[in-house]
Amino acid sequence: ANELTLDDLAEWLRRFATIIDENKRYLTDLDSAIGDADHGANMARGTAAVVTTLDQANSIDALLKKTGMTLVSTVGGTAGPLYGTMFMKMGMATGQVMTLTPEEFGKALRAGIEGLIARGKTELEDKTMIDALLPAIDAFDAAIDEGASLHDAVESAQEASAAGRDATIPMVARKGRASYLGERSAGHLDPGAASATYLWDALTDVVKA
Ligand code: ADP
Ligand code: MG
Ligand code: MG
Repeated sequence: ANELTLDDLAEWLRRFATIIDENKRYLTDLDSAIGDADHGANMARGTAAVVTTLDQANSIDALLKKTGMTLVSTVGGTAGPLYGTMFMKMGMATGQVMTLTPEEFGKALRAGIEGLIARGKTELEDKTMIDALLPAIDAFDAAIDEGASLHDAVESAQEASAAGRDATIPMVARKGRASYLGERSAGHLDPGAASATYLWDALTDVVKA
């Protein structure tokens, strides 16, 4: 179907948690190169906690707000409050609904990303999760504007997210722990950009199913 239901979004978050869990060692390895080696553990703890709350939500805004609050309170570190803010702002943007059109989903996710940017005081090329999130939402919106199906728009967002993630490798970090390394942060993929791309990997699986 060319819309996302409450169940689809719950499945998205479940799938995100599974992919994070499967890749937690990898995320922590990335963070050990330019941070403090906890991003995989942080995200696995937070997303596992989110999964336990998914059945309680009766509407999409409640689901997203609860997800955001759970991430803020369980992840710790920098990424938790930032991801948490993104989901809370996304939930505030949808209103109390049971389905989202692709346009509505794109609008809400963009509001979430803007909230994250405001909270993190980040911009593109700071070598953060934003470098994966912004190109992806731009690609999603562009695809929908051009009349693509939800499935095809999610696929192009996934590709843009992966490209944005990989583009963090040569960057010198200007935010977060990696920025303490200065020039030595170059040559490593940003862990948060890697976990952010899993959001689109997860959604690809949901709209395929
Ligand atoms: P911590 O650095 O506190 O241990 P994590 O390891 O869980 O937290 O998360 C690190 C990730 O957070 C980085 O890879 C980066 O993508 C992201 N990050 C750090 N600071 C910011 C910021 N100000 N804005 C956006 N993302 C950030
Ligand atoms: Mg860390
Ligand atoms: Mg830490």
